[in-house]
Amino acid sequence: MKHPQFEALLFDIDHLGHEERIALEAHLRECEHCNVLATSWRDLEGNLISAPKMEPAAGFTERFRERLVVYKRRKQERLTLAVILAILISLIIVTGFFGLELLTFIPSVISLLLKSINGLVLLGGLLTILGDFVLVLLEGITQSLPAGLLLAIAAATSGLAVIWMFSIYRFGFNTLRKE
Ligand SMILES: [Zn+2]
Repeated sequence: MKHPQFEALLFDIDHLGHEERIALEAHLRECEHCNVLATSWRDLEGNLISAPKMEPAAGFTERFRERLVVYKRRKQERLTLAVILAILISLIIVTGFFGLELLTFIPSVISLLLKSINGLVLLGGLLTILGDFVLVLLEGITQSLPAGLLLAIAAATSGLAVIWMFSIYRFGFNTLRKE
């Protein structure tokens, strides 16, 4: 877990599970940032509880907590959308590129083979670049996204990749059959 998760735990310290509490305590021992946050949050909560005249301010605590949750959810949604868009755009660009590449095939077996090899090398290179790009993006968001959402993104991406590979395969197969 990284800072954001521990920060979220800090604001929900009364409802933590055993393992979460242990993880949080271990993190607080070594992280100054979260420690400061924990201390100031405890102080603030302590002040609110110990000051009877400030009773209505309990609503403020709730609102603050809710706003933090909403803020984090919106951030996650934006990041997820950005990743999905990036993947989609990459797929469209790559598909368009290889569609044209396949159209330029000369009806000769040797040149077809040569081009296939070139295409595969090029495809490999592009996939590596695309893979790295997606990895960097994913690395940035895996820390703040729930596992279910990540699984959904992974499933959607795999589905698109399969459809894309199939369309390239079918197109290449048709080109071969016509000759
Ligand atoms: Zn921390």
